[in-house]
Amino acid sequence: MNQQVSIENGQLVVPNHPTIPFIEGDGVGKEIWHAAQTIFDKAVEKAYQGKRSVQWKEVLAGEKSFNANGSWLPQETMDAFKHYLIGIKGPLMTPVGGGIRSLNVALRQELDLYVCLRPVRWFKGVESPLKHPEKVSMTIFRENTEDIYAGIEWQQGTAEAEKFYHFLADQMKVTKVRFPNTSAFGVKPVSIEGSERLIRAAINYALQHKLPSVTLVHKGNIMKFTEGGFKQWGYELAEREFTDVVFTMNQYAKIQKAEGKAAAEQALQVAKSAGKLIIKDVICDAFLQNTLLKPEDYSVVATLNLNGDYVSDQLAAMVGGIGIAPGANINYLTGHAIFEATHGTAPDIAGQNQANPSSLLLSGVMMFEYLGWHEVGQLITNAMESLFQSGKATADLARFMQNGQSLSTTQFTQAVIDNL
Ligand code: NAD
Repeated sequence: MNQQVSIENGQLVVPNHPTIPFIEGDGVGKEIWHAAQTIFDKAVEKAYQGKRSVQWKEVLAGEKSFNANGSWLPQETMDAFKHYLIGIKGPLMTPVGGGIRSLNVALRQELDLYVCLRPVRWFKGVESPLKHPEKVSMTIFRENTEDIYAGIEWQQGTAEAEKFYHFLADQMKVTKVRFPNTSAFGVKPVSIEGSERLIRAAINYALQHKLPSVTLVHKGNIMKFTEGGFKQWGYELAEREFTDVVFTMNQYAKIQKAEGKAAAEQALQVAKSAGKLIIKDVICDAFLQNTLLKPEDYSVVATLNLNGDYVSDQLAAMVGGIGIAPGANINYLTGHAIFEATHGTAPDIAGQNQANPSSLLLSGVMMFEYLGWHEVGQLITNAMESLFQSGKATADLARFMQNGQSLSTTQFTQAVIDNL
């Protein structure tokens, strides 16, 4: 029997007993993976009574791999993620001074996982710096392969930096480099294809989940061709490929210019009443301010790589910190997806039975939803909700809760299982 998740005509085909590779992760990885896997198995069993189950397949990466075979990221591990399509991982230590910049980045690049998906919601009971954290419910689509993050940069003082500067000055007639002799340089590639596939995924997600809006977050007022291009291509894509189901603020602006504000407002209201998805945009700095002042204005967010990095962490902090923020890296065209804890290896608490497995657990919830096993995601989410509401959590969250009760990793795991 075929136990591989596969993709046919753009649709995932999920067998009842799929093999899913996992990387345990370094530092707290071992503890939180053990907790998460136990909960995943119990929840799947409860939801499907044996008709469905996951065949977990351990693959190595990070320190555990390096100690076992001298390689931080063996080819076998890459091949397993390619072959089985879906995988999940704990945090990985970033090797210092090796040839690899980051294991996470290497995995994303090899599988061209162009969407970094980060849903952000608040769990009742979890302490937040906001007065109304219940208003925060956003899903961030961060572009994962381009932008200033592509790693195209030259160190100050090198022959390459000097050569690059001369290319700019001599061939491109650039005169704006303030201190040419002591500058490092970075390049920011932003393409139509890269922007479109990310924004298309965000719009499809919003339509599938019946969400009210997609906001393109950019800094196009300053970086007109790169970030401004992202916005422009996003609007063009929405109007071209989703003509009947969206209304864009670009269309609004055109109506306003031709027929006045009242006509534009009316068109917007008609579109909303017809259940159309609203596509809008906002400058990134204003967005960060607005997320604190009026988070209810935003639902699905599509943004470039660097903006997405900052935005994800701020939003996570608004609902209780990165300890419970889940994430995934996805290529919707090939189906490849790696779900992951978004925090690091937490070396300061590793091995002490204190780590919070929630980020990995909620990443697993995302994975089960991606597979279409919605019942499992719902069981785990409900169990976590009721624990947090009663003030029970691992120390990192419980210490901020009113009447919070700190549980060890194993106690928390058992409490989630008891609540399934
Ligand atoms: P970190 O996220 O590991 O730790 C930051 C703080 O958060 C620490 O005080 C830690 O105790 C706490 N924390 C993190 N996860 C927690 C959890 N599950 N439960 C309770 N508390 C938790 O960040 P760092 O210390 O900057 O990085 C340590 C290592 O992790 C580095 O090698 C870094 O490169 C790597 N890292 C990996 C990933 C990843 O694999 N996705 C992400 C970030 C950092």
